[in-house]
Amino acid sequence: MEAEMDDLLDRFQGCLVGLAVGDALGGPVEGCTVNEIAARYGRLMEMVGEGWLALRPGETTDDTAMMLCIARSIVDQGRFDPDDVAQHFLGWFRSRPKDIGNTTRRALVELERGAPWKRAGLQAHRALGGMSAGNGSIMRCAPVALLHYCHEHLLIRDSVYSSIITHFDQKASWGAVAVNLAIARLLDGGKEGLVEAVASKIAQKDARRALTQVPSLKDVPIEVQAGVRRGEEDRTNAFLDGLAVCAVDREVANRAGAYLREYRGRGITLDFADSIIASTAVGGELMLVTENAAHFPMPEVRLIGPKGQAWSNLT
Ligand SMILES: [Mg+2]
Repeated sequence: MEAEMDDLLDRFQGCLVGLAVGDALGGPVEGCTVNEIAARYGRLMEMVGEGWLALRPGETTDDTAMMLCIARSIVDQGRFDPDDVAQHFLGWFRSRPKDIGNTTRRALVELERGAPWKRAGLQAHRALGGMSAGNGSIMRCAPVALLHYCHEHLLIRDSVYSSIITHFDQKASWGAVAVNLAIARLLDGGKEGLVEAVASKIAQKDARRALTQVPSLKDVPIEVQAGVRRGEEDRTNAFLDGLAVCAVDREVANRAGAYLREYRGRGITLDFADSIIASTAVGGELMLVTENAAHFPMPEVRLIGPKGQAWSNLT
């Protein structure tokens, strides 16, 4: 029992420290595209600092500061008290932090003027013309998951409350619910079927739809897994786990279908999977590594051989 509690405490701490570490790691590239980050750093694995906030290496941003507001309030009150959380947000706001999101700033101005926590987010939502579905209430929501990790209905209610203090839009509230449900499941090690399980509890349809578009790792490496030899499984899985995954969304599907149609008209039968791969690469502005350049005749696909040869020069 004690060992189990130690393990759980370790996971709780890991959740909050992980949030801060991710914030510090990603802060310097906030606002950059995937391609800009790849061009500058390859895979960003170090605390580099700088960026638009001129961060010191390892310095955290508003994500961590606001998460700590919620965590400290929960510790002070022994429960989730939205009024007290709002006061902690205000205390942080008055310390003049250098990075406050637009929606959050607007709501905190309302709170400062005396709006109750239930009204501040709504007033900000109206002042912003209904545009309050930012990520600002999702980045900070994790402590609510830890408080209620085994009380699902309370987790859902307080995730919504923690969100609407600043972000009235339901997409933001239910985004926070989704992240917190995922955290609660992951505390138990429940990685299998995670996205589907979370999506099934999300009442807001846009947030639920967004979740169903999250690619799962098992969707992509079919070809690699099919070719694995005995004894290579662990190394292959470790390799695949380290890769980013691109979603096959509607845009990718439409372009893949257009490729099949266009080349059929020229008497060339493209492979179904290859047309999806080509379309994904084009959509993500990715380099496609292949030994079979002939399978990808589309001029806009940027091909490279497995040893780095430029196929366009070879064929
Ligand atoms: Mg931030």
